[in-house]
Amino acid sequence: ESITVQELANRMAARQGEVIKALMKMGVMATVTQTIDADTAELVVEEFGHRVRRVAESDVEIGIEGVEDKEEDLRSRPPVVTVMGHVDHGKTSLLDALRTTDVATGEAGGITQHIGAYQVTLASGAKITFIDTPGHEAFTAMRARGASMTDVVVLVVAADDGVMPQTAEAIKHAKAANAPIIVAINKIDKPGANPDRVRQDLLSHEIVVESMGGDVQDVEVSALKKTNLDKLEEAILLQAEILDLKANPDRPAEGAVIEGRLDRGRGAVSTVLVQKGTLRKGDIVVAGAEWGRVRALVDDRNRQLSEALPSTPVEVLGIGGVPEAGSSFVVVENENRAREISEFRQRKIKEHTAAGQTAARGTLDQMLARIQAGEQKQVAVLIKADVQGSAEAIKATVEKLSHEEVAVRVLNASVGQITESDVQLAKASDGLIIAFNVRATAQARAMAQRDGVEIRYYSIIYQVADDVEQLVKGKIAPKH
Ligand code: GDP
Repeated sequence: ESITVQELANRMAARQGEVIKALMKMGVMATVTQTIDADTAELVVEEFGHRVRRVAESDVEIGIEGVEDKEEDLRSRPPVVTVMGHVDHGKTSLLDALRTTDVATGEAGGITQHIGAYQVTLASGAKITFIDTPGHEAFTAMRARGASMTDVVVLVVAADDGVMPQTAEAIKHAKAANAPIIVAINKIDKPGANPDRVRQDLLSHEIVVESMGGDVQDVEVSALKKTNLDKLEEAILLQAEILDLKANPDRPAEGAVIEGRLDRGRGAVSTVLVQKGTLRKGDIVVAGAEWGRVRALVDDRNRQLSEALPSTPVEVLGIGGVPEAGSSFVVVENENRAREISEFRQRKIKEHTAAGQTAARGTLDQMLARIQAGEQKQVAVLIKADVQGSAEAIKATVEKLSHEEVAVRVLNASVGQITESDVQLAKASDGLIIAFNVRATAQARAMAQRDGVEIRYYSIIYQVADDVEQLVKGKIAPKH
């Protein structure tokens, strides 16, 4: 019941790199030649918007029915914008100012709430969505979890200060994400403002604005005086037109979690960005490792919506817990399916994140207490293998080697190369890492060396068993 990453990519006509990324998102590290089990493959397939048809429970075959959106079903959608730039250059001020350009809110204000993103509707009827957690840290954290929400980056540079270290950082991150940049040269109301110097500075970061013969748009603004905000929005809409942003609104919704929190009165509240399809009240959604039925959809002006179209940020009530920011959400057909996906993801998270380490810590403390009390000694091992079958076989084999005085404790048995988090986990339990047909990343190797965590490499299971047995024997107290 397994399939290689390569084969899976072929069957979906997807890029191998994209499949590997999707797997990483689910906490599975795999290379193209590695085999993944049918459950994992099924989730990947669904992440790619296909339907899965399993011929039989025991069947190796995973049928994939493509449900790619047809060109004729695609409709224009508003651009999603992230504002980045150096501290104090005016990101927050600019986001606040842009918010007032909404025809419904207007200069007078209107009661808004911070939900992590907002959408403005301009006098022309055009809409723009702004992620209102400025800066590249949040942006990068989201990308690390696989969410790419941003279509356009607005790079704020203060005209009286010029390009600073975080400006350069932001440029790197925008480029890494392949997001086009629009430069907002801010604070032009200030006496010391020198917009030309900003344009000049940007050249050395390979940002060539239009007036200097390049193709990056730049707009001189003042967030404080609300100067040229309309010009900045025009530039964003022009960029959106060039990008030809489209989505099919007529399908079950998919998107990404912008933020989540526990609200006293309302329980778990998540802000999501709808990226495809239409999200409706009553839909059953899986968000990260959480799921639930959508009880209410609320926008950034506290209005209840019955549905949310592509590029709309919206608060969702009714999800059972708080999903991680940057995780994906998807509407599924029924509660059983939702429960299944959520359980799968929770299991993966347990295996791979700090939460899992904390959980391991609880039992570790108990075990340490017993060891200190002289009741039991232990050999702790963390197993990483190329395929799940081997990981499980090794786990079963070494656990059987436990002795009444010395327990063999498997901290974790999973698939993929050895990462820094594996080393941390092993170190926390003073354990040994067993690498079966897998290698460690350079960072993990360096960390293991520094922290004195031993990594042993194997390709034959009985050799693992022999070694672990020796370790157990070595800890058995000599009989008097
Ligand atoms: P952030 O750290 O990039 O979010 O920057 P802020 O929005 O917090 O702004 C930093 C400081 O610059 C604040 O004191 C703002 O009032 C000020 N500021 C922001 N935009 C402008 C502007 O267009 N003109 C002037 N004169 N000051 C501004």
